[in-house]
Amino acid sequence: MSKKQKKMLIRIIAASVLLILLNLLKLPEAASAAGYFIAYLVIGYDILRKAWKGILNRRPFDECFLMAVATLGAIALAIYEKSGDYNEAVAVMLFYQIGEFFQSYAVGKSRRNITELMDIRPDYANIETDGTLEQIDPDEVEIGSVIVVQPGEKVPIDGIVTEGSSTLNTSALTGESVPRACGVGDEIISGCINLTGVLKIRTTKEFGESTVSKILELVENASSLKSRSEEFISRFARVYTPAVVYSAVALAVLPPLARMLTGLPAGWNDWIYRALTFLVISCPCALVISIPLSFFAGIGGASHEGILIKGSNYLETLSKVRTVVFDKTGTLTKGVFEVSGIHHSPMEDAELLEYAALAECASSHPISRSLQRAYGKEIERNRVSEIEETGGEGVRAVVDGHRVAAGNEKLMKRLGITPIDCRSTGTIIHVAIDGAYAGHIVISDLEKPGVKEALAALRNAGVNRLVMLTGDAEKVASRVAEDLGIDEYHAELLPGDKVSLVEKLLAERSSERDKLAFVGDGINDAPVLSRADIGIAMGAMGSDAAIEAADIVLMDDDPMKIAKGVRISRKCIRIVYENIVFALAVKFGCLIMGALGIANMWAAIFADVGVMVIAVLNAIRALRVKNL
Ligand code: ADP
Ligand code: MG
Repeated sequence: MSKKQKKMLIRIIAASVLLILLNLLKLPEAASAAGYFIAYLVIGYDILRKAWKGILNRRPFDECFLMAVATLGAIALAIYEKSGDYNEAVAVMLFYQIGEFFQSYAVGKSRRNITELMDIRPDYANIETDGTLEQIDPDEVEIGSVIVVQPGEKVPIDGIVTEGSSTLNTSALTGESVPRACGVGDEIISGCINLTGVLKIRTTKEFGESTVSKILELVENASSLKSRSEEFISRFARVYTPAVVYSAVALAVLPPLARMLTGLPAGWNDWIYRALTFLVISCPCALVISIPLSFFAGIGGASHEGILIKGSNYLETLSKVRTVVFDKTGTLTKGVFEVSGIHHSPMEDAELLEYAALAECASSHPISRSLQRAYGKEIERNRVSEIEETGGEGVRAVVDGHRVAAGNEKLMKRLGITPIDCRSTGTIIHVAIDGAYAGHIVISDLEKPGVKEALAALRNAGVNRLVMLTGDAEKVASRVAEDLGIDEYHAELLPGDKVSLVEKLLAERSSERDKLAFVGDGINDAPVLSRADIGIAMGAMGSDAAIEAADIVLMDDDPMKIAKGVRISRKCIRIVYENIVFALAVKFGCLIMGALGIANMWAAIFADVGVMVIAVLNAIRALRVKNL
C-alpha cells in the first residue's frame, strides 16, 4: 500500500468512527452539527478542494464537482429543514472515498501484477576479469565484449555463444514453457533465463538495442496509444457530466414550477433532493477506470504469451481482423534453406557457391544466410566490394575483381542475361559472373511445423480470407500454397507489388470494419507491414526494421500465435463492451429511479461503488489468456 493509500485509509476509519459515535451519543444540537461538520471535512476536504480548483480552471464538470455539489446540497437541505441529520452527506462522501480507495488499490495492484509478468529487465551483466566475475551495469557493456551467464541468471544482452552449452527458459519472451537447448555458435536473445550450464556470450548489440530493452520500450509505450473505445469514453465523459448537471438543475426547478402553475404545492425540498441524488448517481468512474485497465491487462496477458502488442488501438483492430495476408519466406516457411543442387555451372560447384556466398555477405535475407552457411568458411569481406541489393531480386557485387550477380530470373533478365531453366522444385538462385551465365544453385526451404494448424485456427477465429504473397517463383509458391491449403497466392512480387496488392485487398473488403493484417519478417516487406491495418512481425527471425514497422511482434515466430492474439483481443474487447454496457445500464436505471424519487442517495452511492468494483474485477479477467 502506498503512503497516499495509508493516509486515505486512516481518514476513512476516522470519519467512520466519528459518524458512529455521533449516532450513538445524543449530543446537544450545536455540538452534533459541529461533529458532523468535522467528519465531513476529514473525509471530503480533498474533494472540495479539487472541485474548487476545477471551477477556477474553468473545467468544473468532473466527479469531484458532482460529489461536492451533491453533499453540500444535502447539508444545506438539512439545515433548511432543521432536521439536524447530516448523516447522509457525510456517508455519501465516505462511501465515495471508500470506492476511490478500493479502486486505487485494485488498479495499482493489478498494474503491478501485470508489470511483474513482464519482468524481464536484467539488473546486471557478468564480466570476467582475471578469473573473477564482476557484475556491471548492462548499459556499460560494449559490443563484442564477452559476458558470462550462470545458471539461474537472465541473459542481459543479445549475443552469440562462444563457450559452453545450456538450456534456456524463454517463457518470459515467448510464453513457450519447453526449455530450448543452445550451444556454441547459437544466437541468443536477452531476456531468456539460463537454466543449466555456464555460458560465455559475445555480445552483438548494446543493451539499449537488445531484445529486452526493445520489448520493455514497446510495452511501456503501449498504453499511450489510445483505442477507439478509450477515446469514446473520454469524449463521452466530456458531454456526459455537463449534461447530467444541467438535467439535475432542470429536475430541481422545472417540476416544482410546473406544480405551482397547476396549483399543487411546489415541494421544492423533495425535488432538490432528487436532483442531488441524481448527481451522486451520475459519477462515471467505473467506466473511466475499467476500460484502460482492461486494455492494459489484455496487452500484459498477450505479452506473457510472447505476443507484443504496441498499443490498445492495435489490440482493438486485431479483434476485427477478417483477412490475413502472409509473406512466405520466414513467415510460413522457416527461411532456413538447404542447398539441394548446383546445376549448369562451367566451374566447380564449390567455386560457384563461394562467389555467391561472398556476393551475399552483406545481405540479411534468409537466402543469403543459408548460402553463407552452405559455404561454411569464414567470409573474407575484403574480397568483396560495390555490393548492391535489390529487394525481391537479389544482389550484385564485385568479388575478387569479377562482377557477380546472384538472384532470381527477374534479376538476370534485367541484366540482359538468359538464365537456364531448372526442373527441380525449389528456390533457384541464378548466378552470373562478368555478364555471363554461370549456373544456378537450387535451395529448398521447409514449411514451419504447425502452420497448417495455425491457418485452421485462424479460420476458426473468424478470419475468412487467407492470402500468401511472395517474391519467390510461381512454382515454389504454388507448391507451398497447395501444401498449406491457402487458396489465394501471388508470386514473383517485388516489394512494391506487395504494397499494391495489399491496397487492392483493402479495397476489396466488403466493409471498412473488416480489418486486414499482414504477417511478415520485415525482409523486403517492411513497407507492407505499415500499410496494412495491422502489421504483425516475426520477432526472433525478423529484422529490426520489421519490429519497428510492425504493430504486433511475435517473439517466437510461431504462426499459431496469430490466432491466439486474435482470441486474446476478442476477449479483451468483449470485456470492455461488457463493462460499458453494464455500467451504463446500471447508471441509467439509477438515474431514472433517482428522478422518480425511488432511489435515495444511499442507494445511489452503493450502486456506484458496486458497479465500479465489478467492472474492475471484470477488467482483470482480460489478463487471463493462457488457455484461450
Ligand atoms: P518472400 O516474399 O517469399 O519473403 P522476398 O521478397 O524476400 O521473398 O524475395 C523474393 C525472391 O527474390 C527470392 O525468392 C529470391 O529469388 C530473390 N532474392 C531476394 N533477395 C535475395 C538475395 N539476397 N539473394 C538472392 N536472391 C534474393
Ligand atoms: Mg520475406
